[in-house]
Amino acid sequence: MHIGHLRTYFPADIYVRYQRKLGRDVLFFCGSDTHGTPITVKAEEQGTTPERIFKQYHEHFRQIFPRLGVFFDNYGSTDDPVNHHRTREIAMNLIENGYIYQKDVTLPYCPTCERFLPDRYMEGTCPHCGADARGDECDQGCGRYLEPGEITDPRCTICGTTAVHKETRHHFLKLTAFKDFLREFLEGLGGTENARNYAKGWLKGGLRDWNITRNLEWGIPFPGTKDLTFYVWFDAPIGYIASTEEWAERTGDDWEHYWKGPGRLIHFIGGDIAYHHCLFWPSMLKGAGYSVPDAVVASGMVRVKGHNFSKSRGYVLWVEDEYLEEGLDADSLRYYIASYTGHTRDLDFSWETFAGKLNKELVGILGNFIYRSLLFAYRNYGNVPSGFIEPQIEGAVKKAIADITVYVQNYEFKKICDTLLGLAVTGNR
Ligand SMILES: [Zn+2]
Ligand SMILES: [Zn+2]
Repeated sequence: MHIGHLRTYFPADIYVRYQRKLGRDVLFFCGSDTHGTPITVKAEEQGTTPERIFKQYHEHFRQIFPRLGVFFDNYGSTDDPVNHHRTREIAMNLIENGYIYQKDVTLPYCPTCERFLPDRYMEGTCPHCGADARGDECDQGCGRYLEPGEITDPRCTICGTTAVHKETRHHFLKLTAFKDFLREFLEGLGGTENARNYAKGWLKGGLRDWNITRNLEWGIPFPGTKDLTFYVWFDAPIGYIASTEEWAERTGDDWEHYWKGPGRLIHFIGGDIAYHHCLFWPSMLKGAGYSVPDAVVASGMVRVKGHNFSKSRGYVLWVEDEYLEEGLDADSLRYYIASYTGHTRDLDFSWETFAGKLNKELVGILGNFIYRSLLFAYRNYGNVPSGFIEPQIEGAVKKAIADITVYVQNYEFKKICDTLLGLAVTGNR
């Protein structure tokens, strides 16, 4: 886990804690995304199996969340049998409702490896901007999601051979049938503006039907086929439902209340996956007879020491090795992430800024206020004395509560921190 992950998880946890404090019926779910070619390519490079790779990551994440004070009602995995079952069920619903169809397409194939080249198995040139891109995403250029076969000059990632094109049968979600629904959905969608606007831009540019199958062994088999699995972005979000089902199985509660009933659904995501959560996912849910999200909250990017986040270049903060194992306290990092800047803006991490913020704000203002007032009370009275609160102070507290209520509703975590710190400043005065 690196700091980029926490940019999403900490604010989500703050939001959930707030709702829980008010006694609201709130559930908090997450899970490991276990399928897709990033995992199979890594497994091939390391000479191991995708299963071993994902179990290693899954265990790491499962163990580290409690150490960060982030407590999910369930932390699942998309390879769990519950998710296999729910994915098939949703696909069968979509097929029955006429939203999934099959079509023969020609796709890049490696004659050396003798296989089709899904997603990360090929590299080439982005047809939109001309940058170097990988099979499913223009990661070096415009950031667009790329449909299978869309990339130009494809070559095999594993052996470097130039790909040839070969015909194969695939299954498509009729995204074009959801155009009117999506327009209305995005108008009413809560959350942050960056997610909404990104999806609206795509809708304006015109939707295309979405290939939801891959010639890949690792994944959830597509019903009625021998060599196709679901595209990872089909079964990954269904993992949210499966995680809820696992929780319901354990507690005897009803998961459908939240996914087909009156429950409100809020997604906290990284800004780079708004496309999937605001277009694909609501269409799948709608077409299969489930509730659709009420809000999508997308965080901004993370930079490290002023540089674009990059694991390979070392512009990263590893949460376990470089932070927790150094004996540092999780809440300090939580405060840094929540208070550094607005949720949708770019956050920069450096140790200098980290130390500066902590010393000035948490130690100098909040810590100072608590320490001085408790020490004053202890020395003079031996306890917290009874008495009345000055109207001016009571007014400041009430205003802070009213302000924070609005800020939570608008996902403005920095303003929540600033308001709390403002109370400490008042207290110090
Ligand atoms: Zn090859
Ligand atoms: Zn591009």
